[in-house]
Amino acid sequence: MVDRNSPRAFIIGAPVAHSRSPLVHEHWLRHYKLAGSYTKMLVEPGDLPAFIAELRSSRWQGGNVTIPHKETVLSLLDDVSETALRIGAVNTIWLEGGRLKGDNTDGFGFTANLDAAAPGWRERHGQNAVILGAGGAARAVVDELSRHGFNVTVANRTQKRAANLVGDLAPDARITSLEDAPLAQADFVVNTTSLGMKGEDLPFDCTSLSAETLVTDIVYTPLETPFLKAAKAQGCQTVDGLGMLLHQARPGFQRWFGIMPDVTDALRSEIVADLGYGS
Ligand code: NAP
Repeated sequence: MVDRNSPRAFIIGAPVAHSRSPLVHEHWLRHYKLAGSYTKMLVEPGDLPAFIAELRSSRWQGGNVTIPHKETVLSLLDDVSETALRIGAVNTIWLEGGRLKGDNTDGFGFTANLDAAAPGWRERHGQNAVILGAGGAARAVVDELSRHGFNVTVANRTQKRAANLVGDLAPDARITSLEDAPLAQADFVVNTTSLGMKGEDLPFDCTSLSAETLVTDIVYTPLETPFLKAAKAQGCQTVDGLGMLLHQARPGFQRWFGIMPDVTDALRSEIVADLGYGS
């Protein structure tokens, strides 16, 4: 039973109404029979400093931070993990010994999803990884793949953004336009762009993908993106982006509620149904 002493966590953002995070954490609270709550809260950018300052003397255990606060919250915390500092964004915060701490769990979610859905992907280290996109989420992906020893190429529409990302996180990586993405030489391709979601043509030639290439998309609406569909048509093994969303939530749940939760078929089915894709 939830009472005033039960652990409480939140997700803050603006907008935040669309977030599926409460469904995920409430599923785990029920599954592990824990008293606790997870609440969506709209926090406008101007209100963020006061919200964070008040956390230190509140009854919150911590929470998730989403758009547009992931970068700005960094300077408001007492301690930030090396990962979050490298990426330049925080998505998970918690109180520990009176100090407000922050981490970025997107990279953890990305690799844990691959471990579950494409075991053996780590053995591809030393091979060619092409990351399509250079936005906020691409930073966590490039950070992980570069640290796992892949030869990274970042392909993006805006070259300056790709150059900044590579300069910060993977100085040895190559940069190309989306049109010149070297898909034919890729052993592993990750789409992080929202391209194709609105019916736009993909500006790269998916027919050059080899059937041996592992392909993943971090976008999960729809579950089968146009890029994953095109990769499947080439015979590639594909991994959708919903697992990354579910796995990135696990470290936060452990911080606030004390158990490292599992991503199960039941959890996935609940979120798939809520997204309107059937199970
Ligand atoms: P972002 O910072 O806005 O970056 C968007 C990326 O898409 C940029 O590389 C952008 O290129 C590219 N792009 C957008 N429209 C394009 C177009 N018409 N033509 C070519 N390139 C285009 O967004 P983000 O935070 O990285 O998120 C990207 C996607 O990943 C979102 O759909 C988000 O929901 C998803 N995501 C999923 C997870 C998960 O857990 N599965 C986690 C985080 C994010 P430019 O740099 O040229 O603008």
